[in-house]
Amino acid sequence: MNKLENFVEGRWIQGDGDGQILCDAVTGQTIASATTQGLDFKAMIDYAHTVGNPNLRKLTFHERGRMLRALAMHLKNHLDKFYALSYKTGATKADSWIDIEGGIGNLFSYASLRKKFNDEVFAVDGESLNLSKNNTFMGHHILVPKEGVAIHINAFNFPVWGMLEKVAVNWLAGVPAIVKPATITSFLTEAVVKEIIASNILPEGALQLLCGNVGDLLDHVTSQDVITFTGSKSTALKLKKHDRILNESVPFNMEADSLNCIVLGDDVTPQHAEWDIFVKEIRKEMTVKAGQKCTAIRRIFVPENKMEDVWKSLNQSLSQTVIGNPLNDKVRMGSLVGKSQREEVKQQVQKLLASSQIIFGSLDSVEVVDADSNKGAFLSPLLLMNEKPFASTAVHETEAFGPVSTIMPYKNLDEAIALSKMGRGSLCSSIVTTRDKIAKEYVLGAGTHHGRILVLNKECAKESTGHGSPLPMLVHGGPGRAGGGEEMGGVRGVKHYMQRVAVQGSPTTITNITNIYQQYATGIESDVHPFKKYFEELNIGDQIITQKRTITSEDIDRFADLSGDHFYAHIKTTNFDGTMFEQQVAHGYFIMSVAAGLFVDSYEKNPVLLNYGIDELRFTKPVYPGTEIYIRFTCKEKLPSDNRIINKPEDFKRGDDIEKGIVKWLVEMVDETGEQVGITTILTMVAKNRSVI
Ligand code: NAP
Repeated sequence: MNKLENFVEGRWIQGDGDGQILCDAVTGQTIASATTQGLDFKAMIDYAHTVGNPNLRKLTFHERGRMLRALAMHLKNHLDKFYALSYKTGATKADSWIDIEGGIGNLFSYASLRKKFNDEVFAVDGESLNLSKNNTFMGHHILVPKEGVAIHINAFNFPVWGMLEKVAVNWLAGVPAIVKPATITSFLTEAVVKEIIASNILPEGALQLLCGNVGDLLDHVTSQDVITFTGSKSTALKLKKHDRILNESVPFNMEADSLNCIVLGDDVTPQHAEWDIFVKEIRKEMTVKAGQKCTAIRRIFVPENKMEDVWKSLNQSLSQTVIGNPLNDKVRMGSLVGKSQREEVKQQVQKLLASSQIIFGSLDSVEVVDADSNKGAFLSPLLLMNEKPFASTAVHETEAFGPVSTIMPYKNLDEAIALSKMGRGSLCSSIVTTRDKIAKEYVLGAGTHHGRILVLNKECAKESTGHGSPLPMLVHGGPGRAGGGEEMGGVRGVKHYMQRVAVQGSPTTITNITNIYQQYATGIESDVHPFKKYFEELNIGDQIITQKRTITSEDIDRFADLSGDHFYAHIKTTNFDGTMFEQQVAHGYFIMSVAAGLFVDSYEKNPVLLNYGIDELRFTKPVYPGTEIYIRFTCKEKLPSDNRIINKPEDFKRGDDIEKGIVKWLVEMVDETGEQVGITTILTMVAKNRSVI
């Protein structure tokens, strides 16, 4: 029999013994066995610490991001192989798309996220802080990659996405991973890891894989490691209480059971488009992945006078779901991942039935297409009704991890909010309403108990990504029962794998550490104007102090006429009693324009390709006629920019062939007393290579 391999210390090896038998969820046939018996788990952690971690942390964010993009492109070439295996987990083509291409999409998203970071091995976090009167002492925060390994213990439902959504984040942060997928569907994860390793895109040690149990791995974790867990609450609690994890303060991110809910606003009637949107969303959540989604809707709250209409619409919609062999094009819902899981779901439904009744589907029989319902792990969608949701706790606590959802009545929005909170913390809640006032009240009232809230109406429904889809750039996680963890969330997720360090020192020192010019740091003066330098030649801190220019009343009049901005403060005949100003004041935008006139030096072509924009602009002191202005202009930050990938000649745009980077400049506008009248950061695009101009 095919025995799955583990990828350990840079080698593919099989564990000892027969291992756990893994079956095709649709046909029941044996596929492979999986075991990690006999592996040296301590050595895996040591290897990740001493090989994988140093290899990744020495790469810059941009190098790591480009690595993710290359990997995503590589995996896209092997989709057929992954889909073929995914069908054996009971997943339909649409389910598999979410798992496989959704996972690869995560790699692409985190590849692009590199642009939010400087091209450094570390990241700078948030705003700097001036800590002194004379501007010689300040504080900032930086993030450095942890020196450990990310250990991902995953659930069975998304063997590909579950891995890729997590490793994309730790790799971008500069940390390697040990992935332990749920054993039952690990044959698909193994196939993807085989392709990842074969691509040779990752540095040595960036990834190890366990197809089977984790042995004594957790006995060897350190405070520099991060554990993420997705699965049942009971396993999560067992692991979270592990002595080593407690003693070493190992960060433990937990995603556990979640009783997600949807609310129908009492404004919505069957005549509204939102009625069908509500019904469609529920059917999708019950049938996609056969309801085996951590975010699936388990509780449906409906105004009590609309209960009957809603369940009739739902019954009609659910009855159209074709269940069966995922290889058949007509099939819309496949099987659960295995018979053991089906038994587990049935047991959970039995608990729910103590206070609810089935109003659609059957626990004992299901009609399937192109398959044998006895051999495959098929289950009919089950819609339950609970008429007294405040009187029973089971419906808010019992997660049947399959195509199961319960409909319940509420009297008013306060009740709907209270019911949604009875799940004691969920990953996601939705509300369908035509009225944003209702949406706002729900979001503010229920927000404490849900990691994400989707507000659906006809305006957004068509393009909505849906209740059940966690997105790479939004936080995925929820409070309380959902585990209290957070995954992804763009830059937020990357920070989970980095140590934040508050750094204090002089502005010059902090400039040299962060490679970002800090106001009041010593600048670097030179005879060459910085606009004459190519991207590579520019130094952080390159600075010019410009000539002075006197602002006159005529200047202000002319700017008012040219721009059409005749705001009363800029008009010299205004009576300034009771205003913020003493007399005619210059337009802030005029001062900004004067600044450009002072720091831009030449009529000739130079390496600056274009002005790219302004990040922040503040006018800090009124400028009256007679004021003398000069500019301190400093190279603040350099951001490399990749050339666009051009697939077709017609996509080519002028300038695509020029190698370039973005340069940020600090523009301090100062008057003759030395006081700042304005400050901004401007961005220019600067050519990299002399030969292109
Ligand atoms: P599980 O039994 O808790 O397993 C989850 C993972 O933990 C699997 O990889 C499993 O490996 C591993 N595991 C089990 N016991 C372990 C131990 N003693 N030490 C180390 N690892 C251990 O959960 P499941 O039944 O596979 O998953 C279904 C549940 O997951 C559902 O009830 C659902 O609530 C939850 N879930 C939650 C989310 C979320 O994001 N909140 C997402 C998906 C699923 P083996 O497979 O080798 O046992």
